[in-house]
Amino acid sequence: MKISTVLVLLLCTIFFSCEKEDTSPVSSIPVTTVAYSFDSDANSKLMFKDGDLLQTMTSESLRYEIGKVLRVKAINETTIEIANFAPVDIQDATILLIIEGQAKPIKLFKISKIRAHGVQEIKYPFIENINIFLDTDNKEVDLSHYKTTGIAPGKVSFDFTGETDLIKKLKSLAKLKWKVKYHDFDPNDDPTNNWKENIDAKDIRRFSGFIINMAYLLQADNTMKTFAEEPIYDNNGVMMTVEQKKAALQKMIDIPMVNCGVVVNVSGLGGGYTYGLANHVLNDYLTQDPSFITIHEMAHMIGFSHSSSMTYPSKENMGATVAAGRVYLQMLKNNEFPIKVSNYYMPSDLSK
Ligand SMILES: [Zn+2]
Repeated sequence: MKISTVLVLLLCTIFFSCEKEDTSPVSSIPVTTVAYSFDSDANSKLMFKDGDLLQTMTSESLRYEIGKVLRVKAINETTIEIANFAPVDIQDATILLIIEGQAKPIKLFKISKIRAHGVQEIKYPFIENINIFLDTDNKEVDLSHYKTTGIAPGKVSFDFTGETDLIKKLKSLAKLKWKVKYHDFDPNDDPTNNWKENIDAKDIRRFSGFIINMAYLLQADNTMKTFAEEPIYDNNGVMMTVEQKKAALQKMIDIPMVNCGVVVNVSGLGGGYTYGLANHVLNDYLTQDPSFITIHEMAHMIGFSHSSSMTYPSKENMGATVAAGRVYLQMLKNNEFPIKVSNYYMPSDLSK
């Protein structure tokens, strides 16, 4: 009898606690972050579609930071655009809103899924009747005062975050300063130069994957280590110091603009902010090491000539392209690159 009384009392206590939980004040209901999907023709458009106008695909408005391939920008006070510049679907991202004067970034909304090269304009969630948001410390922030006015585009910036393997890798590209855009470097269709006459959507789709993997290669600690250990000669044939080799790789990472184009007759063309690659490179980078061309051209962009083994390998077959190639092959073998054959959205792009 005694034991059962205790049990009943215990059950009552548990029941009472539960009931107490259930009747707790409304304000303690946890704030959740609203989620959107941009994964179909019903909720998004596509960039870089076959037949899209060259002028559109190469417009300055489609320049993006390599560290923000999931790009959000303010169109006006009330409307924002979300665009995925990667040729792979991105899932489970959180979009952060940074408002001038606001201490912490605000978790504006989640993206359950945005399809590869998907783009969509939406109203800010606070225009659409959501008042309370969480900041990155999970503190509640009331944005209802922006409901009627919106926010001036000049006072906001955006970033993305997330815990998936893909998002973590895409975020690692923020170490690079590259602002990427695709170019038709031969607007007058001059047949005597090495630029492809009119680049097409497939060229850009493939390049958009290549440039992510190239950035991923250059940001890796192992690439810096491998560069530092590789014997590399400068433009005068003098062996570079460890510091000089590290500085050279850092200079590639710090290139402010990467203007991407497609070359014919040759494999690559690089100088200044111009980065041209042939279609065979864009076709093969997911399965083969392209460093002999891709690092060569980027070495030109940071001032190295053919007399340096930053461009061509030395007679001992050593240099920047060889060192980078070793890391590239290892990354391919480890299935480590953000963009892979298995997640690239348009398999027909990967066959010649
Ligand atoms: Zn060259």
